Amino acid sequence: MTFHLRRHHLPWCAFFFAAALLPAQEVALTFDDLPRTGKLPPGTTRVDIIKHIVKILQDAHAPRVYGFVNGGKLASAPEELEALKAWTAAGFPLGSHGYSHFNLAETSVRRYTSDITANEPVLRSLVSDKTYWHWFRYPYLEEGDTLRKKEAVYAFLRKNHYRVAEVTLDFQDFLWNAPYARCLAQNDTVAIDWLKSNYLIAAEDRIEFGQQMSQTLYGRDIKHIMLLHVGGFETVMLPELLKLLKQKNFKLITLEDAASDPVYKVEPQWPTRHGGDFLSLTMRYRRLEIPWHRRLPKDQLRSLCR
Ligand SMILES: [Zn+2]
Repeated sequence: MTFHLRRHHLPWCAFFFAAALLPAQEVALTFDDLPRTGKLPPGTTRVDIIKHIVKILQDAHAPRVYGFVNGGKLASAPEELEALKAWTAAGFPLGSHGYSHFNLAETSVRRYTSDITANEPVLRSLVSDKTYWHWFRYPYLEEGDTLRKKEAVYAFLRKNHYRVAEVTLDFQDFLWNAPYARCLAQNDTVAIDWLKSNYLIAAEDRIEFGQQMSQTLYGRDIKHIMLLHVGGFETVMLPELLKLLKQKNFKLITLEDAASDPVYKVEPQWPTRHGGDFLSLTMRYRRLEIPWHRRLPKDQLRSLCR
């Protein structure tokens, strides 16, 4: 049974009643770019940001949330190892996001795969169980601009027992970090309120976008994987995002659970070109029309509080 509800057209009680009848949606939250990403807001540290995010996730009883690490960031800031330790101390696992956050479209296969190997010592030192840290998230969601490269890296990952952490829900949350840091430094509360509401509008829109594509491709709601980043604004917005997910009837699951959905068992068949989430890329490959979705307010975010 499918419900097509426009919640704006219904009283709230009707919406909640209908949501209760819908089968639960499932999503694994994942965080990229540990130990740091984006501009640091005034009055905080990278370690504080990670600890704060971990606390919010624990309060929400989120099951084992993966953080994807760029070990190379520790070379310039070794003290940020504490941020990674705070993550694992909460019982959350770490995966690999490459040592240097290379873009595969701009890097040779040899350089890219040795960068994955270079990321292993720090992961090995922090996570004892190899099955946990042997997950890989492609930086920029770029899996290879040619099929040859895509197959070569995929074969490397498989040979080295890595699993790929795909992404189906992504609203580029990292775009809000720099304007937030600037607006906070200027104490511009009106601008910060605009950032907050816009963040949630983008999140909701992209969640619905992913759900729509899932229905078009598979005729059902797959187990989703959401991409988030460990930026300063996430410490403000993550509780609101969790509320939104709850309203939309999402239940938090582990990455292992999400990845058990058979849709993710696909061999490389097409180059990704400019990166992208699993669902949009699959839609493009199958020549299906991408559903309407809002443009992210990139220009406004770039110019705010300058
Ligand atoms: Zn990244």
